[in-house]
Amino acid sequence: MVADNLLSEVKNIVLVLSGKGGVGKSTVAVQLALSLVADGKKVGILDIDICGPSIPQMFGIDSEVMQSDKGWKPVYTDDSKTLALMSIAFLLRSRNDAVVWRGPKKNSMIKQFVSTVDWGSLDYLIVDTPPGTSDEHMSVIESLAGFDNKSAVLVTTPQLISVGDVRREATFCEKTGIRVLGIVENMSGFVCPNCKDCTDIFAAGGGQLLATETGLDLITKIPIDPNLTKSGENGTNFVKAFQDSPAAQSVFRMRDYV
Ligand code: ADP
Repeated sequence: MVADNLLSEVKNIVLVLSGKGGVGKSTVAVQLALSLVADGKKVGILDIDICGPSIPQMFGIDSEVMQSDKGWKPVYTDDSKTLALMSIAFLLRSRNDAVVWRGPKKNSMIKQFVSTVDWGSLDYLIVDTPPGTSDEHMSVIESLAGFDNKSAVLVTTPQLISVGDVRREATFCEKTGIRVLGIVENMSGFVCPNCKDCTDIFAAGGGQLLATETGLDLITKIPIDPNLTKSGENGTNFVKAFQDSPAAQSVFRMRDYV
């Protein structure tokens, strides 16, 4: 089965990239997907973080992948089948199993993900990638070479140390011909639920600095929200349950760019 066939009904692919781990890349991928679903879109999330898959856990889903007559069936988050997931975690016998693979094996797994998942029709396929620019990134980009509507969102935190890594991501996209939609600054301060004042816990302005330097748009700044942390652990749909929060409102802004 060739990739083009199983992706033929996918309208857009958005890669979510970050220079470092722990900046909230998977969180951004999940919240972007959920906010698009809230807008009536059909969405898939492909988790290609082979060594550290976190997407199934963020939805509280522990499932096994089944076969369709065309390929692997994605795992749906509910009966409406508007959000489909695929991750290596679904293929492991136990959630605690470690994937200790060298580059070539990871590459062939990613190629298989791209070519054998039967997504059906999707408005968006969001790809959650490992941090940095590694074999996994090259594999997914090579596998998607024939797909035109692909783009990337770069996630950073406000600190300058994180910004430097994202600069490399921007260069990577330029070299590989991926259109960058813009920068998402995550963990941008903490909005006090009582007085609504925003405190810059880490630093301020990293995303804006990067945007100015690279000429890219600063798509949004997502503040720290303890409910967002909890939703990543218990599978709550954050943007639905806390839709009026500053963090959810910031997440919704991403929809204007994809
Ligand atoms: P990455 O994919 O970059 O490694 P994660 O998305 O796994 O990062 O996020 C790391 C941790 O930070 C997770 O526990 C997640 O729930 C939490 N987190 C990310 N962004 C926020 C935020 N804006 N507010 C609160 N917690 C967040």
